[in-house]
Amino acid sequence: MSNLVDQTMLVEYRPPEGQPRDIRVTGEQLHGQACIVGTGCTGDVLVDAGHVHTTTGERSAPLGWAVVAHPQCIEEAAC
Ligand SMILES: [Zn+2]
Repeated sequence: MSNLVDQTMLVEYRPPEGQPRDIRVTGEQLHGQACIVGTGCTGDVLVDAGHVHTTTGERSAPLGWAVVAHPQCIEEAAC
C-alpha cells in the first residue's frame, strides 16, 4: 500500500469559474477521488470541478488533472 494519501502537494487550481489559485491537495483529490474544495465536507455526489496543474519544475511543463467536488462546495468556493 502507498502512503500518498497522507501527503499533500502544492498545485494551481483552475476552477470552471473564477481565478486560478494555489492550493494544497492530497493524492485522492488530485486523482479525482475526493472533493477538491474541502477536506472535512461530505456528500455523495461529486461533479467535474475544473483542473489542477502540478508544477513539477521550471523546465517541465505543468501537468493537468481533472478534479471533482461537491456541487455545494463549488458554489461556496466561487463566492
Ligand atoms: Zn466538498
